[in-house]
Amino acid sequence: MLRKCLDRHSPGDRLFLIIILREIKNNMKKISFSLALMTVALIIPVFMGCGSEQPEAKPAVIAHRGYWKTDQSAQNSIASFQKAIELGCYGSEMDLYLTSDNRVVLFHDNRIKFVKNGSEVSKRIDSCSYEELAGYTLSNGESLPLLEDILEIAKAEYDKNVAGPKRKKEYVYTKPILEIKTHSTVSRDIEAAKAIHKMVTEYGLEDNVEYIAFSRNICNELIAIAPTTPVHYLGGDLTPAELKEKGFSGLDYNISVMKTHNAWFKEARELELKVNVWTVNSEEDMVYLLEQGIDFVTTDEPVMMRSIISDRYNQQSK
Ligand code: MG
Repeated sequence: MLRKCLDRHSPGDRLFLIIILREIKNNMKKISFSLALMTVALIIPVFMGCGSEQPEAKPAVIAHRGYWKTDQSAQNSIASFQKAIELGCYGSEMDLYLTSDNRVVLFHDNRIKFVKNGSEVSKRIDSCSYEELAGYTLSNGESLPLLEDILEIAKAEYDKNVAGPKRKKEYVYTKPILEIKTHSTVSRDIEAAKAIHKMVTEYGLEDNVEYIAFSRNICNELIAIAPTTPVHYLGGDLTPAELKEKGFSGLDYNISVMKTHNAWFKEARELELKVNVWTVNSEEDMVYLLEQGIDFVTTDEPVMMRSIISDRYNQQSK
């Protein structure tokens, strides 16, 4: 029972509990009645809940490429960010590339097809200038969005609803979750990380965005230059202990990786790393993850995820 109980707490809590129990054992005859009462009062909250399973943490919902499965929206569009805000998502994930003339655009694939001089061309997006891409339109009619379009909206939302005097209690600020894509060269990876963080800092949003990337070069750069911004690794090939050692705030792994390495949920929790899982679109996977007690779920179905969370927690509170 004691071992089971200890396993449910962080290393710091466990150490504290062990010291208290040892002190009681060693000093049972010496300590006064009042000290004993105080000690018991300290221990009771730690023991509460030990007879039941680990309480689930309610995960926050991140809209994958924004909330795009709705009217007038499209993946990685300004509309998808605004609709994630309207939905009250914790975050809106988006994919970022640095163009050859150093503009930061939202786009997922590493190649883009567009019309040039009357014929269709396909090029790596990081080899295109922004001017070349000016005629490209998303499926909802928007032109290719720039990161500053997103940061402008995020800053206005933050200033009005979080920092301003009229803050609403129920308001949820939707964080831009900035995925910096892997570029053609390591030097462009680093330049992209620097350019994006510089822009985020100019908007004063370094504590109000999060960074994710597959590239370890990008992640290492961000960990070095953005100490107050969470950096989560997408690659799936580092253990929680390795991530902690390298200075990551958490992991952001594919659901198949986390199902294969089921022990990583607990390991990450014990190391106080945040756990995000993508891209979670089925009810079965959503329920499975709720049972693991994770921090964030990244999904193309934020409405369904919120409904499942709401049903489950309403049921538990009945
Ligand atoms: Mg992405």
